Amino acid sequence: MTTISTTNDPASGQPAPAGAALLRTGPDRDCPLCPRLADFRKAARAREPQWFNSPVPSFGDADASLLIVGLAPGMQGANRTGRPFTGDYAGDLLYATLLEYGFAQGVYQAQPDDGLTLVDCRISNAVRCVPPQNKPLPAEINTCRQFLIATIQTMPRLRAIVALGRVAHESALKALGLRSSSAPFAHGAMHQAGALKLYDSYHCSRYNTNTRVLTPDMFRGVFAKVKADLAR
Ligand code: SF4
Repeated sequence: MTTISTTNDPASGQPAPAGAALLRTGPDRDCPLCPRLADFRKAARAREPQWFNSPVPSFGDADASLLIVGLAPGMQGANRTGRPFTGDYAGDLLYATLLEYGFAQGVYQAQPDDGLTLVDCRISNAVRCVPPQNKPLPAEINTCRQFLIATIQTMPRLRAIVALGRVAHESALKALGLRSSSAPFAHGAMHQAGALKLYDSYHCSRYNTNTRVLTPDMFRGVFAKVKADLAR
């Protein structure tokens, strides 16, 4: 278990509350807090012992200005490789876009040892363990939020969050202490959360792109705006 001291609350710019002084930045490999997901993980380990099959840690430095929050690891993607969005379709679009806008460098080859690095950017998930059918239950999203909160509160230079999909948006809002009625999800929207900006995008899943709910141009538009805002 890792415990670290926090600095300021990124949403307010003020010192973090006393209760947040010591935070676990990530769950243990055998985190038992969501019994359904722990059982699912155990079954995946038995079936595919070479896969990662554990809570997937954040990727990228904690001193980044930008945090991208996804839904949860995909079975054949991050759950297999151990790096967020690595190894499935969603990663192809996400990393191509990050490379295009200078938030990553190197060559994305869908492997955690491909040498790709993030630039002033970090990627995490609202839920750290792979859920059945990519659908975490509300209780699981609520339980895992403690790790999203810890991630946010231990990024002292954080200025922007991109939420990929409604679940990530809602969980990020709650992590920031905001009500969803004050900032409804909409693709392309930006919500001011104290000193932070929260941007919404449809999730870059294969389903959303196949159905043209999200086109690559729509996705690029979100990151173009984030890039321009961060440059100000
Ligand atoms: S989803 Fe999060 S809280 Fe639930 S078991 Fe996995 S790491 Fe633990």
